[in-house]
Amino acid sequence: MITSLVITIDGPAGTGKSSVANRLAQRLGLEFLDTGAMYRAAALLAIELGLSPDGGHELAAAIGREPPRFDWKASPPRLLLGNRDVSERIRDADVTGIVSRVAVCPEVRRQMVAWQRAAAMQHPRLVTEGRDQGSVVFPDAPLRIYLDADPHVRARRRAEQLRAAGRAADEADILRGILERDRIDSGRSEGPLRVPEGAERVDTSTLDLHGVVERLETLARARLGDRLAHNAAAAARA
Ligand code: C5P
Repeated sequence: MITSLVITIDGPAGTGKSSVANRLAQRLGLEFLDTGAMYRAAALLAIELGLSPDGGHELAAAIGREPPRFDWKASPPRLLLGNRDVSERIRDADVTGIVSRVAVCPEVRRQMVAWQRAAAMQHPRLVTEGRDQGSVVFPDAPLRIYLDADPHVRARRRAEQLRAAGRAADEADILRGILERDRIDSGRSEGPLRVPEGAERVDTSTLDLHGVVERLETLARARLGDRLAHNAAAAARA
């Protein structure tokens, strides 16, 4: 039998959580859940339906009718809204600009938390990343990680990523956006961004992606060694 094995990674905007979590999952033979993508899908729905991002009940009802789903056959999993693949669309600036306001709504959050726990039931060997994964959604996860980095470093990295993808990037603008998202994410009453109790804190300001993944893999193998091996063997038999 495959027993549940969840690693959580939380932290503020732009710390590279998605890339790190995805690579760590590959190295450890686990699956990867990007919970920010789920909130981004909710923000996209608000835009498309002309609903206020602070729309509370109305917005929660709309998301309830069209829940974000993942195509787990793809690696990393693709995000679907209805039958559409919105994995790229949810990264656009209009979505990024309102997603934190959408994520404040307690009704929206409760739905997301329920879907995330359901995903972990179906995919019990999981690296999940977000803002509340170690504090609220999976507080009993055997390894909870909190990634952080200087906001200026985060803004510079994001600008470099955008330029590398051939897109325009104003670093000062990006920094303002990051600080505003951090402010809203840390200040909300439900599921605020916090360092989960007992979490391993890793400051990535002076590390590159490879360095962060190495550090986390070492932590995971030291903490979970036998359980990783046992689960890998069970998954191979399944
Ligand atoms: O990680 P990403 O930048 O894609 O997250 C987008 C937004 O979704 C965050 O700024 C935050 O407002 C929200 N979020 C959240 N809880 C999570 C994941 C993301 O509130 N678990």
